[in-house]
Amino acid sequence: MNSRVRIRRRRRSKIIATIGPASANPEMLERLFRAGADVFRLNFSHGTHDDHDRSFAMIRDLERKLDRPIGILADVQGPKLRVGRFSGGKVQLQTGRMFRLDLSPNPGDTTRVQLAHPEILAAASIGTNLLLDDGKLRLRVVRVRPDHLETEVVTGGVLSDRKGVNVPDMILPIPALTEKDRLDLDFALEHGADFIGLSFVQRAEDVAEAREIAAGRAWIMTKVEKPQALENLDAILALSDAVMVARGDLGVELPPEDVPLAQKRIIRAARQLGCPVVVATQMLESMITAPAPTRAEASDVATAVYDGADAVMLSAETAAGQYPVEAVTIMDRIIARVEGDQGWRDRIESSRPAPEHSTADALAAAARQVAHTVGAAAICGFTSSGSTARRAARERPEAPIIGLTPSLPVARRLAVVWGVHAVVTAETHTMTETVSRCSRVAVTEQFAKPGQDLVVLAGVPFGQPGTTNALRVARVRGGSGGTPV
Ligand code: PGA
Ligand code: MN
Repeated sequence: MNSRVRIRRRRRSKIIATIGPASANPEMLERLFRAGADVFRLNFSHGTHDDHDRSFAMIRDLERKLDRPIGILADVQGPKLRVGRFSGGKVQLQTGRMFRLDLSPNPGDTTRVQLAHPEILAAASIGTNLLLDDGKLRLRVVRVRPDHLETEVVTGGVLSDRKGVNVPDMILPIPALTEKDRLDLDFALEHGADFIGLSFVQRAEDVAEAREIAAGRAWIMTKVEKPQALENLDAILALSDAVMVARGDLGVELPPEDVPLAQKRIIRAARQLGCPVVVATQMLESMITAPAPTRAEASDVATAVYDGADAVMLSAETAAGQYPVEAVTIMDRIIARVEGDQGWRDRIESSRPAPEHSTADALAAAARQVAHTVGAAAICGFTSSGSTARRAARERPEAPIIGLTPSLPVARRLAVVWGVHAVVTAETHTMTETVSRCSRVAVTEQFAKPGQDLVVLAGVPFGQPGTTNALRVARVRGGSGGTPV
């Protein structure tokens, strides 16, 4: 057990890897984690509860085996419209032909397919555009009937089973959580998901509803993928524990030239609040079938890191691609390379939001400053809710942040937070005990060597959440890592 080599990352921005047929086995999960995946995402748009049950179990087994907290993001589908299935799995839609969307569950063909949303059929009108498969195909409604829409194929192509449908012209008259979402949400929470990915949020109330169900059991990660969510961004972020720039659907609903600006705006707003922000979708898309990324993809990952995103995400690359481990490996390398650039540090410094007027932020800002001045090896923060670590991360310090917490669920959530290495450890009761615990952990976790300084953030009196009010500079003592406690 103790001879095991500890896993630590040499970077600040985190990696989320989606699990799917290409990766849902113990061997692959371990390879992905070792290559750099900090959080695994289970996509509830695909797979059965049995599949996800197995994934939860495999990830928790891996966590125990490697003795490192691993975050699990349960991404619920939300009111994503999808076509039904086809008898042959897919069809070729010819531009200019007619194509019908109806309520019948029978397998589709080149003339029709199911769209099991009566409310959409009811809300559509002549001229409404329907974008299929992330906007690759376009249909235009030419006739509206109670049980079907007759459309003209404006842009044809291959359409396969269960592909998504976007209707950018319309505010969707459907609730944020479908019946399926509620079942998935309960399932995910019961299985100990650390984050709930909330899809197609349009209003702050959508987030409030999920928050109420989660009741603190998981962080709510709001996916911004509707223009409506951008309009209500501040109110939505105020209720979210984390946010995802979900560029797949966002990029279908917005013109492509608007997406980079939306990405930067969301990152800026989230960093201002200290809300972890994830950039997702198509980051290394070509690696689904190729062992190396395009130059543009490498640049895309780098841009998110330069902007100070907490995490970057892989979807089909690790869920269904041919090179899942390579994708995580190259992502890890791109992040580490960017973070070695002085230009990155300069941009992080110039984009740092001012501390809010709280003791916690005063301490977080001081910790960054002191760590910089003394060249500390790490900032160690005792955190019972994760808040102290989050506020320290909001400062984007040069020194890595070690988040010490008695709570395994909190440690798992910190897996998505910029620069934080979480360690589960018992509570301490005195400053002496706290300092020596930090020393020991910093050495065992390979962040510090004897003789180096640590900046320690703690709350006095000990054991009370929300009391971070003390900052101590401590020198790691000689021998094998400080005084054992
Ligand atoms: P999805 O969400 O992969 O669940 O669609 C991410 C996105 O839309 O970018
Ligand atoms: Mn999406």
